[in-house]
Amino acid sequence: MKILENVSLKALNTFGMDVKAARYAAVSSVEDLQALRESGLWKPETTLILGGGSNILLTRDWEGLVIHNQFLGLSIIQEDAEEVLVEAGAGENWHAFVQWTIQHDLGGIENLSLIPGTVGAAPMQNIGAYGREIGDVFEYLDAYHIPSGELHRFDHKACAFGYRESIFKNKEKGQYLITSIVLRLSKHPLFHLEYGDVRKVIDEEFDGKISLHTVSEAICRIRSRKLPDPAEIGNSGSFFKNPVIPLEQYLNLQSKHPDIPSYPVDQSLVKVPAGWLIDRAGWKAYRKGDAGVHKRQALVLVNYGNAQGAEIWSLAKKIQHDILQRYGIALQPEVNIY
Ligand code: FAD
Ligand code: NAP
Repeated sequence: MKILENVSLKALNTFGMDVKAARYAAVSSVEDLQALRESGLWKPETTLILGGGSNILLTRDWEGLVIHNQFLGLSIIQEDAEEVLVEAGAGENWHAFVQWTIQHDLGGIENLSLIPGTVGAAPMQNIGAYGREIGDVFEYLDAYHIPSGELHRFDHKACAFGYRESIFKNKEKGQYLITSIVLRLSKHPLFHLEYGDVRKVIDEEFDGKISLHTVSEAICRIRSRKLPDPAEIGNSGSFFKNPVIPLEQYLNLQSKHPDIPSYPVDQSLVKVPAGWLIDRAGWKAYRKGDAGVHKRQALVLVNYGNAQGAEIWSLAKKIQHDILQRYGIALQPEVNIY
């Protein structure tokens, strides 16, 4: 493990922000982390943990140490007739891990196909798509406590998962480096096809054949048709979370905007698609310089080439302000801003 200086992060974040890290180290073991600690070159309070860089917006050069997580390994650690526990190193690519589970005929994360990034960042915001979240199959994770150097285990409850939330995105943000996760997957999968076009694509493009492979492949196709590929245009996926608002507030909005979509969360709360609000407010395909709003999915902010992180953040704040004025809803960023 080497500590490098003055390293460009442009290729290491999907927004393509051209910023530098004062220090950078790729780590693949707890021993690497201990060596960093002993080097005297690491001030834990100025650490940025980096996975695939697909859920961050870098607005400035990083003055401290960037730790690039490269803990590897995929294995089945426990098994019975129904279920298996699968362990994955935090630096593994998430989609490659999903494909590995499908090759092993294990169900549970097929709906989370083609989400960019690493395994270790997945619990950080309880990644979710097409009606499923990692929390649905999560067993526990191991993490390195940066201030003390101790290893801690977090079970499902301790992670405090919420909608695109966990303890690692809130109270413990920046305090732990997740080193591995364990998921409980099924040998007899229950399929979840009720979301959006999933069933339609399976019917039309896979002759209605339902398997782990066809569900994953259908979702990959839907995603590729709709979402911008960061290899072609810089972005970090959904910039804002979908707001969850009280039913009363929703009914009030609905009286003014009868076609506003909604998804019930429980009896008193309703989820409203942030992309719809931003689209209706006229921001879709907006562009100023190289910072813009994607032309097909208004929830995704994009870097057309040489936008600075501060320009994207300034655009995000303008959108937040406008949505608050128009609908009385305060959008919260889903992307982690640094
Ligand atoms: P990074 O961007 O590297 O890091 C994200 C945050 O997690 C940072 O705060 C970082 O410090 C922290 N972190 C990273 N690794 C660790 C670790 N090992 N331990 C502790 N903290 C860590 N998200 C969804 O939920 N659903 C989607 O469907 C989805 N689709 C997307 C589509 C596109 C095109 C893009 C660009 C993004 C999408 N995302 C989606 C967001 C993103 O892919 C996920 O949040 C992903 O889990 C981020 O992984 P990463 O390794 O790139 O994290
Ligand atoms: P979409 O299908 O156009 O739907 C828009 C929004 O409405 C979604 O964000 C979704 O919320 C909500 N929604 C739609 N159908 C729903 C249902 N049956 N039940 C509950 N909520 C529903 O969304 P999209 O942009 O094409 O994305 C498809 C999926 O991929 C979504 O789950 C989305 O979260 C995920 N995705 C996430 C990111 C990211 O960066 N976080 C980026 C791209 C795609 P939910 O977001 O709660 O599902």
